[in-house]
Amino acid sequence: MKSTGSWYEVLHNGTRIKCRVRGNFRTKGKVYTNPVAVGDHVDFITKKEENTGLITKIHERNNYIVRKSINLRHRAHIIASNVDLALLVVTISKPKTYPIFIDRFLVSAKAYNIPVQLVFNKIDLYDEKDMQKLAELEKIYNKIGYPTIRISVKEKINIEALKLLLKNKNSVVLGNSGVGKSSLINTIDSNLSLKTADISHYHNKGKHTTTFAEIFELENGGFITDTPGIKGFGLVNLEDENLATYFNEMLALQSECKYYNCTHTHEPDCKVIAAVKAGEISESRYLSYLSMLEEDKDVGKYRKN
Ligand code: GDP
Ligand code: ZN
Repeated sequence: MKSTGSWYEVLHNGTRIKCRVRGNFRTKGKVYTNPVAVGDHVDFITKKEENTGLITKIHERNNYIVRKSINLRHRAHIIASNVDLALLVVTISKPKTYPIFIDRFLVSAKAYNIPVQLVFNKIDLYDEKDMQKLAELEKIYNKIGYPTIRISVKEKINIEALKLLLKNKNSVVLGNSGVGKSSLINTIDSNLSLKTADISHYHNKGKHTTTFAEIFELENGGFITDTPGIKGFGLVNLEDENLATYFNEMLALQSECKYYNCTHTHEPDCKVIAAVKAGEISESRYLSYLSMLEEDKDVGKYRKN
């Protein structure tokens, strides 16, 4: 549920037990800087006379979110594991969320194997033009398999429906700053408001460069993972991989392109380009793809020098 670096809180039959990890966990699996992450399912042992425990085993993770370690090259920090659902909170205006931000997020989530629910917040603020834009985005993302929901935290619109989507899942709430993440979390569960307020206060002091994730229990069943370290949830390192495979609609056409390694940029008989021209693939998604591809190249150049 929580880690402070040396202690881990393990939820067991409704109570939290402070645990340490076996010493040899630290040297095993050197790719990661932390042996246990919030969301891990673990085995642990306790001594009868003590109320602390020792974690002896970590069960295989369904998925996990990593952040590259700043100091240690080639090592990564697992921020959260076993995430059932990532809520990406998006606003059409105040602030405007750009499609490239959404698409970059979706690529990362796909790479990490994390299901996404798009949440359009602040619908109470939208004028006619904003509503049109909203409908457009809903159409684009529903078509390629991403569910969407419209809400207003302020006017309490669709909050109950959203709560149902979170029931009995371990969710994480992400999105640009100002879109209403904290307000949403506070509205979902009144018990959480105090805790999350505590956390942001703690981080705002800026004393700690390492921020630890924590999982909160929802009153109606389920969990919310608070992950201060991944506000941006940046693009994963896709150097050696095919970016297009993280775009659902391109992946579906990949095998039909003339060249098996088609980058869908200039190749003849490219089915993706044809689909963009025919309006079957959204232009905005394709532009996001091109701009991410370009970014990747730049990063590659930089590394070689
Ligand atoms: P965060 O940075 O994503 O955590 O965003 P906050 O929860 O701090 O919200 C940013 C601002 O948007 C605050 O002033 C909220 O009161 C406001 N806000 C959040 N949700 C809504 C909404 O549904 N409608 C309107 N009009 N304002 C909202
Ligand atoms: Zn192609």
